[in-house]
Amino acid sequence: MTAPSTETDVVVLGLGIHGAAASLELARRGLSVIGVEQFAPGHSRGSSHGATRMIRRAYPNAVWNELVSRAYDGWERWAEIAGESFYTATTGLYAHRGSGTMQGGRSRPVGSAEVAELMPSVSFPQGYEAVFDLDAGVLKAEKALAFAHRAAQEHGAELRFGERVEAWSTDGGGVTVTTSGGSIRASRLVLAGGAWAPKLMPRYAEQFEVWRIVTLSARPGQEVGQPPQLGSFSVDLPEGLVFGVPAIGQAGAKVGIDAGLVWDPEVPVAEPTQAEVSRLAALFESFVPGIDLTGAEAVACLYTMTPDKRFVVGALPGEPGVIAAAACSGHGFKFGPAIGAAVADLVQGVPRPDLDFVSPERWEAA
Ligand SMILES: Cc1cc2nc3c(=O)[nH]c(=O)nc-3n(C[C@H](O)[C@H](O)[C@H](O)COP(=O)(O)OP(=O)(O)OC[C@H]3O[C@@H](n4cnc5c(N)ncnc54)[C@H](O)[C@@H]3O)c2cc1C
Repeated sequence: MTAPSTETDVVVLGLGIHGAAASLELARRGLSVIGVEQFAPGHSRGSSHGATRMIRRAYPNAVWNELVSRAYDGWERWAEIAGESFYTATTGLYAHRGSGTMQGGRSRPVGSAEVAELMPSVSFPQGYEAVFDLDAGVLKAEKALAFAHRAAQEHGAELRFGERVEAWSTDGGGVTVTTSGGSIRASRLVLAGGAWAPKLMPRYAEQFEVWRIVTLSARPGQEVGQPPQLGSFSVDLPEGLVFGVPAIGQAGAKVGIDAGLVWDPEVPVAEPTQAEVSRLAALFESFVPGIDLTGAEAVACLYTMTPDKRFVVGALPGEPGVIAAAACSGHGFKFGPAIGAAVADLVQGVPRPDLDFVSPERWEAA
């Protein structure tokens, strides 16, 4: 048994998709990395568990376009390293009331007749318009997260599961991190703590709200629920945006809604209730008529929302050597490899003005 290292270049707090991606990218660039995760690999207490996630180029605001491109490039990079792709192109349709704003990539507005041609299984409410995204698809999330952990370790990162970061202190020379397993001295600390962000960044606690989100997955193997019949989709209802991810491999098609109870991540995420499942089943059947929900599975997970639905990626003001990587608001997974590369750039002092729109500095100015 080798004693845990107590000195390293970078400590990464949290090994969800963003901490795992940062650990991998930093280790690939030759830095020594210790990743510290309080739970076991693949646990279901945070935001990165579950078989699939949607990826899309269509975004509500052009400010995202560069990071979205870097996201697609990042999944290609991971496919080269892994020798397999985690991305399956399925196309996407995003339905909205009134003047929608989805733009980016090759996305374009389409009329209801074309919707039926492009995605025969989907049915949008009367009066809704849609935007078609040729590059939208599905990410094999569980596989990608396991790959990132494995590849980070293969590149020399030390990943510690079941160990919690209790505190840290910064000084001119670096950061001292105290964990439930001992103390670590590092030149940089990356905070990729997901729903624990308000606790880890108390200065900005007001800016975060953690939501418990429920999804419902149908049995796999249903033609109506998979490409080419069904691709990724969303419908912006008054009560929240409904998102749909088609079936891929052994993962059935699923729906969820961007609305949920405010949750304290220290409390294990409560199982979905019958009422929540019935509500989602009704939405699923209305947007994908013909889907069979016998044996469907409901799962709960956490979003870490910010008021502008933008991430928090950048040097933490007033904390030299500490870099925040809290990228969620319900749409962060697709950016995993890109956030990993962004964090590595910031650690190495590579200027990234393109990240100003997600920098915590924006809250200093406010
Ligand atoms: C239901 C649902 C559907 C989603 N769908 C999509 C989608 O289709 N497309 C998309 O792009 N995104 C989607 N997202 C969002 C995406 O999954 C998240 O943005 C992403 O997983 C966040 O990853 P993370 O690494 O920041 O957080 P997490 O995965 O939560 O990782 C943070 C980790 O930090 C650990 N941690 C916290 N504090 C400490 C400490 N003190 N010491 C040690 N460890 C600590 C936690 O245990 C946790 O494992 C969805 C999210 C949910 C919940």
